[in-house]
Amino acid sequence: MTENIRIDEVAVIGAGTMGMGIAQVAAQAGHLVLLYDANPAQTARALEDFASRLAGRVTRGKLSEPDASALRARIRPAESLSELAGADLVVEAIIERLDIKQQLFAELEGICGDRCILASNTSSISITAIGAALSRPERLAGLHFFNPAPVMKLVEVISGLATEPAVRDTLLALARDWGKVAVHASSTPGFIVNRIARPYYGETLRALQEGCGSPQLLDTLMRSGGFPMGACELTDLIGQDVNFAVSSSVYRAFHDEPRYRPSLVQQALVDAGRFGRKSGQGFFAYQGGKAVLDTLPAPAERAPARVVVQGDWSGLKGAEALLARFPGELERRDGSPALLIDGVRVELTDGRSCALRHPGQAAMALDWADDYEAVSHIALGVSEYCSDQQVAAVTGFFQRLDKQVLLLSDHPGMLVLRTLAMLVNEAAEACLHRVASAEDIDLAMRFGVNYPKGPVAWGAEVGYRRLLSLLDNLRALYGEEKYRPSLQLRHWASAEAAA
Ligand code: NAD
Repeated sequence: MTENIRIDEVAVIGAGTMGMGIAQVAAQAGHLVLLYDANPAQTARALEDFASRLAGRVTRGKLSEPDASALRARIRPAESLSELAGADLVVEAIIERLDIKQQLFAELEGICGDRCILASNTSSISITAIGAALSRPERLAGLHFFNPAPVMKLVEVISGLATEPAVRDTLLALARDWGKVAVHASSTPGFIVNRIARPYYGETLRALQEGCGSPQLLDTLMRSGGFPMGACELTDLIGQDVNFAVSSSVYRAFHDEPRYRPSLVQQALVDAGRFGRKSGQGFFAYQGGKAVLDTLPAPAERAPARVVVQGDWSGLKGAEALLARFPGELERRDGSPALLIDGVRVELTDGRSCALRHPGQAAMALDWADDYEAVSHIALGVSEYCSDQQVAAVTGFFQRLDKQVLLLSDHPGMLVLRTLAMLVNEAAEACLHRVASAEDIDLAMRFGVNYPKGPVAWGAEVGYRRLLSLLDNLRALYGEEKYRPSLQLRHWASAEAAA
């Protein structure tokens, strides 16, 4: 254990979106905060906006006037960097450029006391690289807040090559005192969240590229799979240009690692100026701030009277209870889990397309659901050997069980399970490379991007062996290193088999 450094006075540099938010978080925790911006008019504007937001909270009865004025008084504008000499912690939230950040921190070294911690809110620049310009890089760390800083719970504390353990521990304890969920990562591209979330976007973009379904259909499926939003609506919200720039920067930073290769589908949107909500058009068109959505076509139904349930479905949560609701006749048969409906074989996807798993036969793939009884939608990948009548019969079966049916093309691994496999693989690789602990990765993804479960725990629920064999199949099918399973995933799968 290292001894934490005492932090009283905090300084924030950069009074933009992030800097003002961070100043507010520190002031709410009781610190005196000095706020400096190279543009003094920006500091004044940020403080005015803050005062009017506080006044609004007082009017709505959410905050007392004495508390509001005490909070206002705790954030003071600084007119020059030299006023920050007494700060115990300086958090930088200026423009995202290495040379400018290096220059600022080098200047601060000459102003701040020896025990002052220097922190950067950078989302993509290496802390090690910023530290290279300092005479004492050991007191520099990353303190990465998420937007909006007063609302988002997660803070990533980033250690560069030289960062002292006492600096890391002090920042972790401080962020927790500020009411945040604090996790630690080593300074690697994307840190935790911006690295591990890549396949969440990447797999939907890939499915679009392969003509698997419309943006609206894929988003509906991802939400039904437990994610708070679909990747199309989320990238429209973030900005296609911003998301594409993050993807490109992570790809370059990993020296063209195929897992992170940016998508041509997204590049086309950027080239067309379809940036999303802010430009009025992205994957969706926006009117009055709302996406214009079509009604998803209801797939034709033709309920079968009799269905064969092959094998034991108890390994899939809620599946047996769901099947028991079928009002028609269910015939039980031994074998591997499959439903036989009107000559179609329906099985959970294993990472192969139906056409390759059952050549020449009518087959459909089910996507993953954490609980088949609770889930609102059932997604089916349809092989080219299924007739329209057969598709209608399988659709009718699930509609009899009160499920809405989403029909996709014959996409290997489907969307939810394939995305989960890639997220878990990414988490495994980050553990293997000592970027962060499994616990911190799970916390980061739950509180940084609101996934319902952390990928490591989610992977254990789905089954590491299931995910590993799905990835092995995808890699063999596509012949792409993108789907290469991590050594750590193989270890988890082998421990699961031994347990
Ligand atoms: P912003 O443009 O809203 O604010 C940056 C502010 O820094 C501006 O007011 C500018 O006048 C000031 N500034 C620029 N150069 C300066 C200098 N040399 N000295 C003092 N002040 C200077 O930017 P932002 O969105 O708040 O981002 C700031 C940092 O936070 C960046 O490093 C960014 O990568 C990171 N970040 C942003 C987000 C986000 O969603 N916006 C999330 C996490 C991290």
